[in-house]
Amino acid sequence: MGPKIEISNLHKSFYRDGVTLDVLKDINMKVYDGEFVSVIGPSGCGKSTIFNIICNLSSGYTGNISIDGVDLKSSKKRMAYMHQKDLLMPWKNLKDNISLPLEIQGMDKKEAYEKIYEMLPVFGLEGFENAYTFELSGGMKQRAALLRTFLIDSDIMLLDEPFGALDAINRDKMQLWLLSIWEKFKRSVLFITHSIDEAIFLSDRIYVLSDRPATVKLGLSIDIERPRNKGHITSSRFNE
Ligand code: ADP
Ligand code: MG
Repeated sequence: MGPKIEISNLHKSFYRDGVTLDVLKDINMKVYDGEFVSVIGPSGCGKSTIFNIICNLSSGYTGNISIDGVDLKSSKKRMAYMHQKDLLMPWKNLKDNISLPLEIQGMDKKEAYEKIYEMLPVFGLEGFENAYTFELSGGMKQRAALLRTFLIDSDIMLLDEPFGALDAINRDKMQLWLLSIWEKFKRSVLFITHSIDEAIFLSDRIYVLSDRPATVKLGLSIDIERPRNKGHITSSRFNE
């Protein structure tokens, strides 16, 4: 099977006040079915821009992107995208925050609630369906935003620094928990972080973006051999 996401020779520039900013230069990436792939790099190097392009929120790139073998420009594929600043709406309770994108997808509220109630225990949010954001801890808010992303009907999850705002202890807990969710549900995950430790802990592979001026922007891929990969992720998948 080919890659779920394949990015080849991606270039992206922004124009502002007559100045051209080459944010992405010759980025090449692949994400295979069921893989957990991280993208690391310092703030401002273009990580979120890659996600915005993949989700059709940012046009005007050059290069090729295909999703399940179909060019992004004609792909109808839905992505589950957790934005970097994907905060919950404070005027809605937890279940309505999560049901909103499902309702936008065309699901009726009753069915959306059923799906949410089923998954609340898995995401450690049982009993909090009517809570507002001020009643939730930082970890709970992130889990609620993750659950909202998770329930979007897609086998690809794009997570943009989902644990960036958490303290070290909560981040450790959330990392373990995300791995358990990922191992259970087998989604392909593309995960942005600026923490090398987090990337090494979570990923099958890591892409490293440099923040040097655009000419030397590089997309270096590191394969990680980890015990948990043995059995269900074989190295041959990376040798295409
Ligand atoms: P990262 O997620 O790695 O921190 P971003 O992808 O958000 O970086 O941004 C990369 C660079 O592109 C930054 O310098 C940012 O200011 C710039 N940038 C991002 N989006 C836009 C935009 N819509 N218009 C102009 N510049 C942008
Ligand atoms: Mg970002």
